[in-house]
Formats: sequence, structure tokens, C-alpha cells
Amino acid sequence: MCCKLFTVTEHQTITTSQIHVDRVTHTYETETGALPVLNDLTIKIEENRFTAVVGPSGCGKSTLTRLIAGLLIPDEGEVWLKGEHVSSPRSSVGMAFQNPVLLEWRSVLKNINLPLEIIPAEARAQVPSNRGQELLELVGLAGFGDKRPSELSGGMKQRASLCRALVHNPEVLILDEPFAALDAFTREDLWLTMLRLRDQEPFTGLLITHDLREAIFLADEVIVLSARPATNQYSLDLSDFKIRTLDDLYTNEAMDILNVLRGQIQQASEISLAER
Ligand code: ADP
Repeated sequence: MCCKLFTVTEHQTITTSQIHVDRVTHTYETETGALPVLNDLTIKIEENRFTAVVGPSGCGKSTLTRLIAGLLIPDEGEVWLKGEHVSSPRSSVGMAFQNPVLLEWRSVLKNINLPLEIIPAEARAQVPSNRGQELLELVGLAGFGDKRPSELSGGMKQRASLCRALVHNPEVLILDEPFAALDAFTREDLWLTMLRLRDQEPFTGLLITHDLREAIFLADEVIVLSARPATNQYSLDLSDFKIRTLDDLYTNEAMDILNVLRGQIQQASEISLAER
């Protein structure tokens, strides 16, 4: 994967990658001692590319998302978003999680528009007033803007959560297992929605998932993290493997890719178990 680097000073570099996690190491201090979670991890994601990150449970995937969003600052290394050093929480990052957490006292549309109340006024001025409504239509929720969250199914709530993550035109989108709690049919439906969203307005992003089929369906690249403290164990560029339909997941090529990834995850998990 390409990434131009311009040297600015002896110690500082600016990257043109949309997301650049640069040699990041992070350790949590816990009651039982230091817990090293990430170790010299580097990830670069170019504009309009979508990268899936998979790895054993507890290896540090959610920690990585918090570092990219500026909610955590790494002990060592740096995180860059569009050439800017991340040193505090970033409102220019859109996030969606396994639990959509919609506020029941607000309508669906008002939930979706919530980020617009938080971002700086200059950024808000760039967002068309009907943006939330347009996103609702794009994800198949036209006519549901005035409903309360409790009137939506799990899949519909997750669609609304995706709209909320995108409403302020974020520089990057981070999805942390957003479809994990959904049934298989709804999940696949959401995958197709994601492809439609990307076709309509390409975005740069990172998807944390445990579902390898989801990873190869949605991502341009899959990164397998090692056991904790996690670093890049393996990465697979899927640029030449374009999936457009769910049937494409059952071709021989798709099976081969899934088997390679499964082997990598197994390797990481075995190391993780051996270390316990
Ligand atoms: P993953 O998303 O891969 O399951 P996480 O990034 O959530 O992993 O967590 C990695 C490890 O760090 C886990 O062992 C978790 O218990 C621990 N951890 C996560 N957040 C904290 C925290 N704020 N303080 C201490 N330990 C944490």
C-alpha cells in the first residue's frame, strides 16, 4: 500500500495517508500491574479505502479505535489523521459500535443529527440542512425520522447509528463490530447497505470485526493483529478481489482467502492461549 511521507524536521514527519497509526505502543496501568496492549503497531489507510482489522479477542482492537479517535493518547508512537497529529478527541471522526445507543427522548432524525450539535460551527456550516434526511433515505429508513428509537428493529437502529456516524461528513469512519449483535440475514442486509453508502459517497474507514466474511465483503484490505500486545501479524490487500454480491462470498477464490485469514487468526489465538 502506498503512502507518501514528507520529512519536515529531523523528528517530525507529515503523512498524506488519511489514517496513519505510526509505530504505536500502548500499555494500560491496571490494579494487577501493567497490561501491554499494542506494540509498535503501524497501519496506513489511504483516502477512500476501507480497512478491516481482525484478531483474537482482547488483543487491542477497540483500544486502536480509541487511539485513532483521540480518546486515548499512545505511550509511544503517533496517530495522524489527514496529516494532522491526533493529540485530543476528534469530532471529525465518525464512530458506530455494536450497541447503537440511541437516545429514547429524541426522534430518530434528532439522534442522527446529534453530532451536528457538537462539531465546531464552521464544520456545521458545511453540512446541508437536509443531510440527516438524505442519509435516512439512503439506508432505507425514509419515513422513520419522526419515530422514537424503541419503534425500530435492531437492524433499523444500526442503520440509524451508521447515519449518525456519517452525518457530519467525518474525515474517517470507525466501525467497531457494528453488525455483531444482528441476526445473519439482517447483518448481510446491512453489508449491502454499506456498499450502497460507499458507492454514493466514498469514505475512508476502519472496521473492527470478528466476521471474516464481513471483512472480505466490505474491506479493501484486511489486517490481522497478533495476540496482545498486538502488532501487525498479516495484511491482505483485496483491491483486485472485488465482491459485489453475497454470492461472490462462495466462490473458490473467496474460500481460499477466508482459509488464509482463518489460519492467521488461529495462529494468533494459539499464541494468545499459550501465553495465558
Ligand atoms: P479487543 O477490542 O481486541 O477485544 P480491547 O482493546 O477492548 O481488545 O482490550 C484489550 C485489553 O485491554 C483487554 O485485556 C482489556 O481488558 C484491556 N483494557 C481495555 N481497556 C482498558 C482500560 N481502560 N484499562 C485497563 N485495561 C483495559
